[in-house]
Amino acid sequence: MAVEPLSADMPSEEFRRAGHEVVDWIADFLADPRRYPVCPPFPPGDLAGRLPSSAPDHGEPIEQILDDFRSLVAPHCAVWNHPRFFSYFSVSSSGPGILAEMLIATLNMNGMLWKSSPAVTELEQVTMKWLRQWLGLPESFFGMIHDTASTSTMHAILAARAMADPAARVEGAANDFVLYTSEQAHSSVEKGALAIGVGQRNVRKICVDEAFRMRPEALHDAIRQDRAAGKRPFCVVATVGTTSTTSIDPVPEIANICEQEDLWLHVDGAYGGHAALVPEHRQALEGVDRAHSFVINPHKWLFTPIDLSAFYIRRPDVLKNALTLVPEYLRTAEDPRVVNYMDYGVPLGRRFRALKLWFVMRYFGRERIAAIIRNHIQMARTLASRIEADGRFELCAPTPMSLVCFRLKGSDELNRLLLDELNGTGQAFFSHTVLNGRFVLRWAIGNIHTTQADIDETWRLVRELAAPRLNPVPDSVTRGKSRNS
Ligand code: PLP
Repeated sequence: MAVEPLSADMPSEEFRRAGHEVVDWIADFLADPRRYPVCPPFPPGDLAGRLPSSAPDHGEPIEQILDDFRSLVAPHCAVWNHPRFFSYFSVSSSGPGILAEMLIATLNMNGMLWKSSPAVTELEQVTMKWLRQWLGLPESFFGMIHDTASTSTMHAILAARAMADPAARVEGAANDFVLYTSEQAHSSVEKGALAIGVGQRNVRKICVDEAFRMRPEALHDAIRQDRAAGKRPFCVVATVGTTSTTSIDPVPEIANICEQEDLWLHVDGAYGGHAALVPEHRQALEGVDRAHSFVINPHKWLFTPIDLSAFYIRRPDVLKNALTLVPEYLRTAEDPRVVNYMDYGVPLGRRFRALKLWFVMRYFGRERIAAIIRNHIQMARTLASRIEADGRFELCAPTPMSLVCFRLKGSDELNRLLLDELNGTGQAFFSHTVLNGRFVLRWAIGNIHTTQADIDETWRLVRELAAPRLNPVPDSVTRGKSRNS
C-alpha cells in the first residue's frame, strides 16, 4: 500500500484559516464577554439532546464543527471567564494565559522526566521559584505543579503520613493516624485523607470562632484527647481563605501547636494565598513559612487558565521516598542537577502547565497583579458596606478578601428564591453556602474583567429582584419594570 506523503493531520493552510477564525472568536469574546449570558437557561440534557448519539464515521468540515461550537456548545456554557461570574471562586483566563494554552497544546509535551522534555521541568522550577519569591515563602520550599488543589493537598497528606509512618509504603496504611482540619475547610482535605486511606473516622473537624477561623485551643484539646485514647495524630490542615467565607485560620498559633506536638502542618491557600501578593495584605500568609507544605491555585486568583495548582513542600525527600517507582522504560542516568517530577507525585504524565503561569507572571508583572487583586478586595469591601447599609439585607461573615457573604433578612426559602431568580436572569451567577445554619448567598469577585460598573449594576439587580419579596407589588409588574429600566 502506498504511504501517504502528507501528514494525516489537518492541512496547515486549513489549520491557519480555522485558527484565525478561532483567535477572532476568542478576541471578540475577551473584548466584550458581557454579550454572553453568564448562565445558560437550558434544562439538563438539552445540549446532549441536540447532538448526534454517536461519533461520525467520516470526518466533518472544520467550518461545521466551529459553527456547532458557536451555535450549540457556547450557549450552553456557564461562562466562568465572565465579569459577572460571582459564583464559587470567580476565576480568570487572561489573554497571555490563553495564548500559552495554545502553545502548550501545540507542543503537547509530557514532563514526567527532565529528559522527556527539559523545558517542562525547568520552567516549572523557574515559575515555582518566582511565585515563592512573590509570596515571601522560604527558599527551602520545593515547588511543583499539580492540576488542582485537591491533588496538591492529597500529596501533602500523603507526605505527612509517610513522615509519621514510613512503613506505610510497604505495609499499607495503619488505621489510627488522625488528621485535623477546621469545620470550614474545603472538602478536598477530607477527600485527600479518604483517598490515601486515613479513613473518614480519623478526620477531626475542629470548631471555629465567630469569624469562621479554626480555634487553636480546640485543636490542641482534640490532639491531646486522641493521644490519650492511643491514636496517632499526624497532620493539621489550616486554611488561608476558606471556601465559604475566606476566613483565615490563625496559622502562627496552629504552627506552635504543630511544633509542640510534632505534627505536619499543611496550609491550604488555594484561593486566599494570593492576597499576600498585595503588600498591605501580606499578613494573610503569616506563619506559613513554618508550614511543612502549602498549596495555592494560580488558576483561582492569578489570572491563569484552569488548571494550575502550585504545591510547595519543605521535605520533598519524604514525598519521594513514599512515591518513587521507576520502571526500566523510564530509567535515566542519575544526575544531581536533574529533577524528575514524576518521582514526587501520583501522576506520571505532566502537562506543560508552567508555560501559562510564566506567560501570565511576565506579561502582568507583580505590581499589576497586585493592583488587580487589591481592586477586587476594595470592590468587595465597598459592596459589603453597601449591603450593610441597606436594612433589608445582612452581611453574614467578615470580608477579609474579595468574597461577600450576605442574605436577605428573612427565611432560607426567600434567599433560595432570590438566588434562583438572580441566576435565571443570565446576567450574573451566584452560589450559596450555609453559615450558622442559615442559607447565605456568596458574591465572589475575582475575574480580571470585573469593573465597579459590573458590581453596581448587579447590586441594582439584586435589590430589584429582592423588592417584590419585601413589598406586596405583584412580581410580574415589578420585574417587568426593572428589566426595562
Ligand atoms: N481549597 C479551597 C480553599 C478551595 O476553595 C477549593 C476550591 O474552591 C479547593 C481547595 C479545591 O480546589 P481544586 O478545584 O483546585 O481542587
